[in-house]
Amino acid sequence: MKVYVYDTLRKEKVEFEPIEPGSVRMYVCGPTVYNYIHVGNARPMVVFDAFRRFLEYVGYKVTLVQNFTDIDDKIINEAREWGVDWKTVADTFIAEYFHDAHTLGVRAANFHPRTTDFVPEIVEAIERMIQKGFAYPTANGDVYFSVRKLENYGMLSGKRIEDLIAGARVEVSEHKKDPLDFVLWKSGKPQEPVWDSPWCKGRPGWHIECSVMSQKLLGEMFDLHGGGEDLIFPHHEDEIAQSIALTGKPPAKYWMHNGMIIVRGDKMSKSVGNIFLVREAVGRYGKDAVKLFLLSKHYRSPIEFSEEALEDNKRAVNRVYGALRRFNDKYPYPLVPKVDAEIRDYETRFLEALSDDFNTPQALAVLFEVVKELNRSMDEGSDERALKMYHLIKRVFGPILGLFDTGYETEQKASVESVDKLITSLIDLRSEFRKNKQYDIADKIRNALSEANIVLIDTPEGTKYEWR
Ligand SMILES: [Zn+2]
Repeated sequence: MKVYVYDTLRKEKVEFEPIEPGSVRMYVCGPTVYNYIHVGNARPMVVFDAFRRFLEYVGYKVTLVQNFTDIDDKIINEAREWGVDWKTVADTFIAEYFHDAHTLGVRAANFHPRTTDFVPEIVEAIERMIQKGFAYPTANGDVYFSVRKLENYGMLSGKRIEDLIAGARVEVSEHKKDPLDFVLWKSGKPQEPVWDSPWCKGRPGWHIECSVMSQKLLGEMFDLHGGGEDLIFPHHEDEIAQSIALTGKPPAKYWMHNGMIIVRGDKMSKSVGNIFLVREAVGRYGKDAVKLFLLSKHYRSPIEFSEEALEDNKRAVNRVYGALRRFNDKYPYPLVPKVDAEIRDYETRFLEALSDDFNTPQALAVLFEVVKELNRSMDEGSDERALKMYHLIKRVFGPILGLFDTGYETEQKASVESVDKLITSLIDLRSEFRKNKQYDIADKIRNALSEANIVLIDTPEGTKYEWR
């Protein structure tokens, strides 16, 4: 099967032909670990996880690298606020990232390199760039990349050097030779974590880590570089510049970028303050509703975030689980049906949609068509056909997109919600008894909950509960 993707570098849809036939090496930029991940961070995770599953399904061996930026101003500031060192903050949010990725059903990459594990390699790469004349150290020990040394800087973003100069702000930094130059090595301020280098004690700039780690783990030229479209400029543009300086060519053959999650006109981001955390979304709507929400639009389009949209997707997920459950109630141990022309036809349509620049909305339309056919077959008592439809949803389409693999979770979710309602109403009842000074009954409620491993905590904002 031929796979086509829209390549941001060539600015057109092209056939995806990996450098080494049969295997795909891909790198996707990961998070800066200073906070829990939000739905905006989750989009590239879910999209590229599904794309990886699809490539594997059609027969490629995929090697995926996703980095953690574990040193950065935001991490240092967070550590200062907590009164701990930067590593505690980074370790905390790397662990929390894996927790969230797991609840989302996003598989771990083959490698999750951290910036600070590659400092000697980064220093060595910067030294080579200086030797080749693409970078220069300044008097205070910073090192900058000389953007104008490259003839075709801007090839990914389509930005032109002249326009960048016109738009450049008056530089505060007195050390840079040119406002366009970007930092490769930053000198450390007092109290900041620093590493040794030939120029000064300091730490790597942001862009260089991805160039060095991708090259170390995937080679000088790999197949696919992915990330959010907000990384095209300057991050990926600068990665290309660095790779050209080091190896004479861009690091990847194809570049794929996902669109942003939009909240009331702004991109979802911590700095705008409009984030919705993944764990909150998964807790409230279930993993499949969150993933379906992220895959229901083409990956390059923006998606408008709203709780209503998640609610809609939860209803769609319930429709699928409802049909699967109905089938399972009758056939708890469904076997593999005989693969016939009908199964092949649905599978082909599904895969063709995905091989056309990963058109998940079109593939999902096929999936929902099959859900309808599953219900129809059961209505008509056509068990053999129902088994085929069940098989397609549960074992072919679902696994390719990372959906519908958790049993009847939405129903389980409903029971969690009703337990929460029950506890909350018992808490309200207890407060009423306390108000009326009927402390013996109030205490009976507390003890009964405690025996069920539910601890009540009285706070100025009211009574809360925790599972012990
Ligand atoms: Zn990156």
